[in-house]
Amino acid sequence: MLEPSAQIESILTAVTTQPGAVAGMQAALQRVSEFPSPLAAMLTGIALDPAGRDLAEQLLDAAWADETRRQVTLSASNAQREVIIGSGCHAAVYAAVRVLSGYPKPLVLERGARAGGTFAMTTRPTFYLNSRNQAGGAGLAGDLGASLNYLPGAPLQPGHLSMAEYQTNADLAFVIRLTLAQFADVVTDTNVIAVGDDGPGVEIAIRDREPVFAGRVIDARGVGDPVVQYPAGGSIVTFPQFMQRMAGPWPLRGVRRAAVIGDGDSAKCAVEALLGIAPPPQLAAAALDQLERIDWYAEDLPATCDGWRAAIRGRYQAIGRYLRPDRFGVQRLTITGRRAAAVALPGTALVDGRAYDLVVSCTGNRESSIGGLFLGSFGDYVLDEDGDALAREHDSLPAFRVGPHARLPLTPRERIDGLAAIGENAVSIFRLATKTARLAATLDAPAER
Ligand SMILES: Cc1cc2nc3c(=O)[nH]c(=O)nc-3n(C[C@H](O)[C@H](O)[C@H](O)COP(=O)(O)OP(=O)(O)OC[C@H]3O[C@@H](n4cnc5c(N)ncnc54)[C@H](O)[C@@H]3O)c2cc1C
Repeated sequence: MLEPSAQIESILTAVTTQPGAVAGMQAALQRVSEFPSPLAAMLTGIALDPAGRDLAEQLLDAAWADETRRQVTLSASNAQREVIIGSGCHAAVYAAVRVLSGYPKPLVLERGARAGGTFAMTTRPTFYLNSRNQAGGAGLAGDLGASLNYLPGAPLQPGHLSMAEYQTNADLAFVIRLTLAQFADVVTDTNVIAVGDDGPGVEIAIRDREPVFAGRVIDARGVGDPVVQYPAGGSIVTFPQFMQRMAGPWPLRGVRRAAVIGDGDSAKCAVEALLGIAPPPQLAAAALDQLERIDWYAEDLPATCDGWRAAIRGRYQAIGRYLRPDRFGVQRLTITGRRAAAVALPGTALVDGRAYDLVVSCTGNRESSIGGLFLGSFGDYVLDEDGDALAREHDSLPAFRVGPHARLPLTPRERIDGLAAIGENAVSIFRLATKTARLAATLDAPAER
């Protein structure tokens, strides 16, 4: 029976003692026998009740922001500790499977102020996931009995959080954050800048903090940062900056003409937000905030409604109907099939000589740099059973890259299963979470150095 961690216990207690927040937990306990554990039932009840979820989110952020706790947690690290860089879903899966396999809680170092990784980039829901919400265990796209967003070891699963076919980023972030609260010690505002083996164990250098020591490093930095960065508050924004804006009040105020640059899923999510078919913003009204024109600079996407419907997968089909005039002859979305660069001018931005109130640049990501952990120092980490790489292993340090950050090539079997048909599948949870889980289940305790 899984006992709640001290951090989860404090959330359960706070929710129980707040009359406005306890209803969801009480309702879930009426069906407790249908959940894998009482803890899963209570956490699901909290997740399904907006008041309970808000309270839990606030408690998680407050605990992880406590500087005294951060200092105590960091100074307790030692040459036997497993330290994870990044606090996204792969950190959560690794920590959960490790603890459930009988090892101590890993220490998670997150450079941002908010733990939870890519899906936690906003506190409110701002984009829909691209993988279907289904009940069940881990599995492949197309397998209707499998949950594509399954997190091995998590105390509750995304499939418990809603009936929506595509869930919001905030749903998955909540599962990741609760999993970390159960199975890891998380320290936020902790930017790892270099890793070496100068001291007892591995020495991890952190910007503006004392170094910490570890017996093993799990490098879970995700897909990385936008290739091109822009100053905050300007007329050109990256995808994360745009999503931050969409999470605030009146996010589209003053925006009549917008451009999106890029072909990938981030660009598609940005277009959905501008069209008003993403998760509803906190404050926005069609009468005040409807855009007149959205120009999408994307080289490899179909530009017509029919072409879109034939070529684009189900998740993004709703965009297609905006690629033809409405019954009054107005077409708000146009795909301009060429590469474009944006230039910021005071109060406006230019793309291809056209002026826009806002430009969202979604031109790809690259990894943040950490000295000593360069990709070239890592080779495939393969378990003998089937020859598939689960992660990448450093050639001299006890360090592994996991998740999208490992950049694992598709295996022949994954190609046969159809994974390669959609490029974005390469970084998806349903492809990589079980690999991280297998790594966590099979590694021994860190060796003495
Ligand atoms: C916009 C977007 C939407 C996506 N949607 C889906 C989806 O619907 N379904 C799906 O399966 N996959 C999706 N993906 C892929 C997705 O990135 C992964 O499935 C998942 O987020 C990977 O988790 P992770 O733990 O590897 O990394 P992340 O969740 O990206 O977390 C990495 C963390 O590492 C931290 N970090 C980086 N450098 C440092 C450092 N030097 N020191 C400390 N911390 C650091 C970052 O701040 C970040 O919090 C999406 C990706 C993006 C960008």
